Amino acid sequence: MEKWLSLWSAGQKKTVEDMTAIREAGFDGVEIWAEHLTAENDMELAKAAGLKIGLHLPFHDLNLATPFEEVESLIFKINEQWLKKLQEYGGGHAVIHGGMAWASEGHLEAKEVVIDRLSRMQKMAEELSCTLLFENQIPDKLNYTHIYPSSVDEWLEMLDESGTAACLDTGHLAVLGASLEETISRLGNRLASVHFSDNDAEGDLHQLPGDGVTGTSTAKLVDLLQEHDYNGPIVFEINPYLYSLQDIIEHPSAK
Ligand SMILES: [Zn+2]
Repeated sequence: MEKWLSLWSAGQKKTVEDMTAIREAGFDGVEIWAEHLTAENDMELAKAAGLKIGLHLPFHDLNLATPFEEVESLIFKINEQWLKKLQEYGGGHAVIHGGMAWASEGHLEAKEVVIDRLSRMQKMAEELSCTLLFENQIPDKLNYTHIYPSSVDEWLEMLDESGTAACLDTGHLAVLGASLEETISRLGNRLASVHFSDNDAEGDLHQLPGDGVTGTSTAKLVDLLQEHDYNGPIVFEINPYLYSLQDIIEHPSAK
């Protein structure tokens, strides 16, 4: 199993020395954070340091459940640019968010739209030698809108209908309140990547493992994944506003 780091965790400013430190701390790869102002240069820095490269596609302004065709076109245009860059750098996977329906009342109709867009994006990724990974999210507790996917059942349905693989975010799952072991088992060979962090089971804090209440240590996660023949990466996705890069790569959980 490979150990990776989300570059979100390294903050906006990254240096050649940072990338070397990440490599020397035993990380095999990094997930480029496309929303970072320096994301393109980060691919170059990661490559120069001998790190494998994955990508977290942008999502802040790119709602995959949007009712606007103009936004849909923009999403496909921007993501194609990123996937082509990823291919140039020999990257293998890209994580995507499912977006949110404008109103919870219309969530079933909007779900079909998201599945259609995910299917088309998956084909685009495949043609560019990339695996598209659809990540689990946290539901809107107010039920004003609807986030995709808001439950493990909805996630499995959307993965199967769109033909995408899964990126399991352990922190999102803890806030949702679903069992990690049962979810890994239900995902089976759909599971291609894991985002790993801890929290207080209330908010998406992205703490270092052991600093929250989820009780999932690195050793426990590795055991659970090995029981299910998982051999993808474990990507530490840790909050850069709570920890420094040094805190993260030197933490016992990342050894
Ligand atoms: Zn994540």
